[in-house]
Amino acid sequence: MIPYGRQDISETDIQAVVSVLRSDFLTQGPAVASFETAVSEYCSVKHAIAVNCATSALHIACLALGVGKDDLVWTSPITFVASANCALYCGAKIDFIDIDPFSYNMSVDSLGKKLALAEKSGRLPKVVIPVHFSGQSCDMAGIYALSQRYGFKIIEDASHAIGGKYRGEPIGNCRYSDITVFSFHPVKIITTGEGGMALTNDAQLARQMELLRSHGITRDVNEMTHESDGPWYYQQIALGFNYRITDIQAALGLSQMKRLDEFVAKRHVIANRYNQKLSHLPVVTPWQISDSYSGMHLYVIRLKLDKINRNRREVFEALRASGIGVNLHYIPVYRQPYYEQLGFKAGHCPEAERYYAEAISLPMYPGITESQQDKVTAALGEAV
Ligand SMILES: *Cc1c(COP(=O)(O)O)cnc(C)c1O
Repeated sequence: MIPYGRQDISETDIQAVVSVLRSDFLTQGPAVASFETAVSEYCSVKHAIAVNCATSALHIACLALGVGKDDLVWTSPITFVASANCALYCGAKIDFIDIDPFSYNMSVDSLGKKLALAEKSGRLPKVVIPVHFSGQSCDMAGIYALSQRYGFKIIEDASHAIGGKYRGEPIGNCRYSDITVFSFHPVKIITTGEGGMALTNDAQLARQMELLRSHGITRDVNEMTHESDGPWYYQQIALGFNYRITDIQAALGLSQMKRLDEFVAKRHVIANRYNQKLSHLPVVTPWQISDSYSGMHLYVIRLKLDKINRNRREVFEALRASGIGVNLHYIPVYRQPYYEQLGFKAGHCPEAERYYAEAISLPMYPGITESQQDKVTAALGEAV
């Protein structure tokens, strides 16, 4: 089976991990800070907080922005469930903004309309979480302008997008947001096994997230309520978690950062090859916005079902039967039983549901060979 995504691990990556295993610190050592520095320098952002996964980063990002009971958080329905769950962890209420039919990102038009209605009813969101679907940036300038008008905070879920650019600048620089989050799961652009990072230019948000990552404990006397009892002393000043990443993982991440640009460039070569090979088939290939450079995490096609004698499920099953590990990103989050039980109904985001009926993710990762790619396009040609 050709998988839809997979990691690319070099001998140098392995050596980087081995050297941490031979060192004094497996966790809370120097590799974490080195990894954070590498990512913050790459992204031109002031602060980076590495954690054990992007889900944790989204959680502490929401908490640092003060999301609490009965606050409102809005995100995209075409995302992984974690983009929405983080709001529920904080006791907040979640809602979904329909997608743009071309980029599949949160539609700024729909967001603007929903904000105007929400202002009338006095229920504006505290935080909006745009998701850079497949690695392509959302219209951040548009979302930022709305945030200025309506007073909400922004967390970019850039789990797909490290290495991508928006208007010529690295995704993660937080020019149009309060916090940006990356994921380092093995199918993503670079990996640490499990891992994530929260980036911000705001020193206070950074410090808050740092505290929440590690139990809410401080050893800084300036943050304590009274003088230290002695050299052993620490204080818990917030209700934090153990969301720390290990040095073993951070060393892998630091080593992978050296090949980030190469990974993304390779993904673009693969995407361009797919675009050519699929141009004569009844499918819609990914649409790229001119002022953005995608991280190209996913290569999603949409079937032109009116030109095909099969439904999506039949095409999907035929591809799987030919050894192509196609996947589907994503089921609209609010169609999950857990969310339906919260009151969400079919039809909530019509564009997202249309997308869901037609989408298939083809294999996309730096290590896929030309002959594997040819096998994918041949099988797809056959299937449609
Ligand atoms: C992968 C992913 C996450 C969660 O990442 P983890 O590191 O696995 O917690 C969140 N949001 C999106 C959009 C993702 O693709």
